[in-house]
Amino acid sequence: MGLDRVVKPHIRSLEPYQPGKPIEELERELGIDDVIKLASNESPLGPSPKAVTALRSALESVHRYPDGASFALRRALSQRLGVDEAQLVFGCGADELLELVAKTCLGPGDEAVYAWPSFAMYPIVVRGMGATPIPVPLDSDLVHDLDAMRAAIGERTRVVMLCNPNNPTGTSLGAEAFDAFVASLPEDLVLVVDEAYFEYRRRDDFPDALAWLSRRPGTLVLRTFSKIYGLAGLRVGYGVADRELASYLQRARHPFNVNRLAEVAALAALDDEDHARRSREVNAAGATYLARELGELGIDVWPTDANFVLARIGEGQSERLLSEGIIVRPLAGFGMPDHVRISIGLPEENERLVKTLRRLREARG
Ligand SMILES: *Cc1c(COP(=O)(O)O)cnc(C)c1O
Repeated sequence: MGLDRVVKPHIRSLEPYQPGKPIEELERELGIDDVIKLASNESPLGPSPKAVTALRSALESVHRYPDGASFALRRALSQRLGVDEAQLVFGCGADELLELVAKTCLGPGDEAVYAWPSFAMYPIVVRGMGATPIPVPLDSDLVHDLDAMRAAIGERTRVVMLCNPNNPTGTSLGAEAFDAFVASLPEDLVLVVDEAYFEYRRRDDFPDALAWLSRRPGTLVLRTFSKIYGLAGLRVGYGVADRELASYLQRARHPFNVNRLAEVAALAALDDEDHARRSREVNAAGATYLARELGELGIDVWPTDANFVLARIGEGQSERLLSEGIIVRPLAGFGMPDHVRISIGLPEENERLVKTLRRLREARG
């Protein structure tokens, strides 16, 4: 085909991101109407009712372009986080921030170092710029191997990504290890700390990544409204950086990358602290429940600081769950065919998962 000569080789060779199967699709296939989806780390509580109310009244003004500077959301977050307004950059999900970093810092010949298995978007954004991904295997506890990552950083490294807590393992780095690693980094690279699940953290010594913004220019901390705030479908995330890095990312973004409804809902969700607290509590209780119950079934479960758990349920079991109307995320694509990532659901969803796994295991003998 003629496009072979037109499309860049690094785009041609990309593997597209594989999204989970939609609930409606599986219900149609199975002829049932009670499918549960524990696959995409969405909030089982749904959006804040305050966000829904704000959205309803904003519907009448969608003929207007969004506020390209996200003025109100910027002001609210700068106060919440104790950073300057100029340190914030908004995106169509935190995913867009990853792409902006790649567009801003990476090209052919450049390298980006990150742990693996980790967030599937990292290789996509790095390869998408024709740069070279340097994935560094997690250690035997499935935690970032910071010594190996440090050793992988070289002359050509422009970006280092830390995913904390790590998706898809749920494991996290403590403050001591994190701080020592960040302090050891060369100045002339950008450090991205992806904290998509920050609000769910459970360990007491979770690192204070934002504190590094003033100590280490060239650091970007990513957060999102997709997870604890329950707004995944609206697409809004943000990065916090030093002013200089933030100003470059601002130049790279489209002027209206966060839509009007997303901005309105994010602002209202931020204001609904009760809803966020409930999400955190439901999640923590679900994490404890799943660790205990799956453990009793003889299934290995890893400690989690996020809204999902990594579980070794055995090869082929995610397909069997699917045929029972339960969608989890298989990890065969990460070379972990025995493992799945299970998003923590409502108590009744978690219970149905445990019951089904128990039944499948008994049937297997
Ligand atoms: C979900 C997720 C994101 C970003 O999500 P958006 O919906 O694009 O904001 C970023 N990093 C990790 C590790 C995630 O799991």
